[in-house]
Amino acid sequence: AALSAIDARESDVRAFLQVTPEVALGAAACVDALRAAGEPLPPLAGVPLAIKDNMNMLGTRTTCASRMLENYESPYTATCVQRMLDAGCVPLGKANMDEFAFGSSTESSAFHRTNNPWDLERVPGGSSGGSAAAVAAGMATLSLGSDTGGSIRQPAALCGVVGMKPTYGIVSRYGVVAFGSSLDQVGPFGRTTADVALSLDALVSGGRDAYDGTSRDVEASFAAHLEDGVAGRRVGIVPAFMEAAGLAPEVKHAAERAARSLADQGAELVEVDLPHLDAAIAAYYVIGPAEAFSNLARFDGVRYGYQEPGCANLAEQSAKSRAHGFGAEAKRRQLLGAYLLSSGVYDKYYFAAQKARTLITSDYARAFEQVDAILMPASPTAAFKFGELSDPTQMYLSDLFTISINIAGNGGVTVPMGLGEDSGMPVAAQLVGKPFDDARLLSFARAVE
Ligand code: GLN
Repeated sequence: AALSAIDARESDVRAFLQVTPEVALGAAACVDALRAAGEPLPPLAGVPLAIKDNMNMLGTRTTCASRMLENYESPYTATCVQRMLDAGCVPLGKANMDEFAFGSSTESSAFHRTNNPWDLERVPGGSSGGSAAAVAAGMATLSLGSDTGGSIRQPAALCGVVGMKPTYGIVSRYGVVAFGSSLDQVGPFGRTTADVALSLDALVSGGRDAYDGTSRDVEASFAAHLEDGVAGRRVGIVPAFMEAAGLAPEVKHAAERAARSLADQGAELVEVDLPHLDAAIAAYYVIGPAEAFSNLARFDGVRYGYQEPGCANLAEQSAKSRAHGFGAEAKRRQLLGAYLLSSGVYDKYYFAAQKARTLITSDYARAFEQVDAILMPASPTAAFKFGELSDPTQMYLSDLFTISINIAGNGGVTVPMGLGEDSGMPVAAQLVGKPFDDARLLSFARAVE
């Protein structure tokens, strides 16, 4: 059924970079064989899954939507993918994304754009735009994305699906091509919070991954706590977010509807202050590019990926491979990172950004002494039209509502709140939890669903 849905919708939506019907049918046949033999079925047996193309999976290419890795065959399977396969998922293929996950619209993919299934003239968000669109179009039941500064939560908002960035460290990053190693976190997309909770159970089961030094052991009890309810719990509202310049009224109304729904179910709404929020975008666009510059240095035209033919020496080969392998946004980030880490500049920006990171993290910690979850928008607007945010800094500013959560490391979930009264496109609310309190966070998301 998923492959038929892909046949019907993919030529319009273009969510995938690679569809692997033979792998999918093979995995589905395994589930059928288990069922026929009367064996117990794993929890996600037969559930169709799309995988962001920065995650390795044996038998597929992992391109990161970049010419640099256009022909790169996965040498092994990422832990997050393996755990979904162990849970019984049927992998459909690899989903489109912004090149190396730099972006908020999937427009920086080197291969093609992905269209928002609700309006093909609009972006699906990004960078995990293919993963969000595949679920929204009914081609995949679940998908995996990665979120360094909002890349799961923002496309989920723009495509009207549920998307979760778990607390940093819950899901293994092993086998996921690194962007900003201290910010990157893998998470699931689904149509419902129940689907997302079941996916997160699968992603954490098996415990800590010895191949990722930052991975932590957590209990796989997300689905079990989903219906815990919010009565008597406290929910924070951040006035600076709700009054932010550029927040579209229809998105603000969506957050207000979510707040009312929580209050109706017995939660108490409390105003909380995050005094250093103003520094979040600047800090992220220092730390993110600095880490990206370090991580992408491995694409040197020798060890991985595109290699420029006919060069006279190693320096020329490396320079030309990088010049021709990377697209404009990937170059912009690396140039910025190289500059920010250079001698004399480092103290002024990188060190200052790390201080800001500590302040923002303590703002959240203080706020969570008063509340169990914080409610906010996920994106300032509903899905915009292609080319509408053509200035890169304008695009960076649109990450206002997601970025501070990667800086602090907490979990965040986007929940669809229907269609906006002005655009007619999906609008959403975002809930943020205490670090490692992701089960409770999901129960809040469930309550506003
Ligand atoms: N939009 C942000 C950026 O371009 C976030 C990307 C992400 O989370 N991968 O950096």
